[in-house]
Amino acid sequence: MSLVGAGPGDAGLLTRRGAELLARADLVLADALVGPDVLALANPAAEMVTRTHAPTDAPGAREANQNALIARMIAEAQAGRRVVRLKGGDPSIFGRGAEEADALLAAGVPVEVVPGVTAAIAASGLSGIPLTHRDHAGAVCFVTGHDAGRAREQIDWRALAAFPGTRVFYMGRRRLRRIAASLIEHGLSPQTPAAVVSQAATPEQRTVCGTVATIAADCDAAALPGPAILLVGTAATEPGDRGWWERRPLHGLSAALVGAGPQPAAAERLRAAGAEAVDVPLLATPRIAAPDGLAEAVDALRPGDAIAFTSSNGVDGFGRLFEGPERRDLRALFGVTLACVGPSTAAALAPLRLVADLAPEEYSAEALADALAPHVRGKRVLWPTCPEAKPTLADRLSAAGAEVRRVHVYRQAPATALPADAAALLDAGRLDWALIASGNLGRSFAELSEGSAGRARLKVAAISENVAAACRDAGLHVAAVAAEATWDGLVDAVSEAETA
Ligand code: SAH
Repeated sequence: MSLVGAGPGDAGLLTRRGAELLARADLVLADALVGPDVLALANPAAEMVTRTHAPTDAPGAREANQNALIARMIAEAQAGRRVVRLKGGDPSIFGRGAEEADALLAAGVPVEVVPGVTAAIAASGLSGIPLTHRDHAGAVCFVTGHDAGRAREQIDWRALAAFPGTRVFYMGRRRLRRIAASLIEHGLSPQTPAAVVSQAATPEQRTVCGTVATIAADCDAAALPGPAILLVGTAATEPGDRGWWERRPLHGLSAALVGAGPQPAAAERLRAAGAEAVDVPLLATPRIAAPDGLAEAVDALRPGDAIAFTSSNGVDGFGRLFEGPERRDLRALFGVTLACVGPSTAAALAPLRLVADLAPEEYSAEALADALAPHVRGKRVLWPTCPEAKPTLADRLSAAGAEVRRVHVYRQAPATALPADAAALLDAGRLDWALIASGNLGRSFAELSEGSAGRARLKVAAISENVAAACRDAGLHVAAVAAEATWDGLVDAVSEAETA
C-alpha cells in the first residue's frame, strides 16, 4: 500500500509517482484537503473515500476515526487490493504519516511513502514570498499552530520569537490572532513582517501581507478563509511581481463552458489564465446507428454537387461511411463542393483528410445557404444533420433550385439538469461567467439555472450577436460578445472584458 502526498491543491503539483499509483489504485482514501483535480486522476474504477475525517473537536472522535481508518487500510491491503492513502501536501508534515506507516508495518503490510509539495513550499512558490533569503532569512521552521491557545498547547514561543529566519505556521484560521499575540508577548518585534497565504495553489488563492501586529486584523478585513498558512520573518514582505499565481489575468474567476459537449481546449486556455473552468455540456449528440439513406445519398453525388455541414456532429456522423470494413472510397466525393458553417465544423473534416471549399463570413445556416445558393441550381446537396435541426438551410437551397437530401446522422438529447460542479458554483454565488455557444444552449442554460442564488451576478459571454439576443430574451445578462464566433473568440471576449 502507499501513502501519497497529494500536494496543496493543483494537480500539476502532484508527483509523477503519485499520479501513477493513483491511476492503478483499487481503493483511494483521501483526506478532506485533497483537491478535486487530484482525485480526478484516480483509476475510474477505484473505490473513492474522499473525506476520511469529518472536522470535529469532540473528544475521542478523531482517534476513533483514525483507528477505524487504519484497520480498514490493513484489511484491504491484506486482501490484495491496491490501496492509496492520499494526504494533502506531504504525508509527513503534520499529517500523521509516520503513525499510519508504523501501524501498517506492525501488521506486516509494506508501505511506500511518496512525498508531496507541502503547503509551506507551495504557498511560498505561488505567492512569491521566499522562505529563505540570503539577506533576510538563513533558516526556516514549520510549526503546527493548531493547538495555539488550547490547553494541550506545547509551543516554545520564546524559541520561536528568537528564531533567526522564517517561521511557517500551519494553523486553523481562528488561531491566527493567538499566534501573532504570543510571538509578540515572547519578545518578537511587532514590526516583523508577516504574511498569510489562503487556499494556496487553488483558483482562489489570496495573500495578505502586514506585520505580526496587524496581520490578524488585516486577514479579518479581507475576510480571508482557511485553509491558510502564516509566514513570519523579515523575508515575509509584499512579493510584488513575484506573486505570479495571483497575477494571472483571470485568477479568482470561475467560468462555465456551456456547449453541446465538453470543450477541453477552451477550458485549458481559461485555466492557463488562472480561472476555474467547468464544462456544462447541455446536449448529448449520439450518432444514429444506421442513418437512413446516407450511403445512397453519397453514391448519388456527382461532380458539381455539394455537401453542406452545419455542425461537427454532422461531419462526424457523415464520416463513418469512410471507416470500417464496409467503408466507401473517398473518391466518391471527387468534384463535390464541401461547404461548412464555420471554422470548427471545417476543422472536423481534418481526420477525414478533407478540406472545406466554402464557408460563409457569418456562421449561421442562413449565411451558409446564401453562400451556396449561386452554385446549386439543378445540383444535388446532401445535408447530414439531426432531426432537431430547423429546416431553414434546406428551404433556402430548394428555393435556389437545388435538390436537397437531408439525412439524419445524429440526434440531440438535451440535458435535464446542470452538472453538479457547475450547479454548486452557481448556487454558492461563485460562478462569474457562462460562455454560451448557441441560442438553444442559452435558452436551456437559462431554464436549468432558473432560481439559483448565483444567477443575478452571472455574466454571459455569447458567441455571436444572434446568440447574445437569444440569451437576453431568455433573461440572462450578456456582458461580452465574441468578435470571432468560435470558442477561442469566447475566451478572448472574457479576457478582454476582465482586463479592460
Ligand atoms: N500535510 C499537509 C498539512 C496538514 S495540516 C501539508 O503538508 O501541507 C493542515 C494545515 O495545512 C491547514 O490548517 C493549513 O494551515 C495548511 N494547508 C493545507 N493546505 C493548504 C493550502 N492549500 N493553502 C494554505 N494552507 C494549507
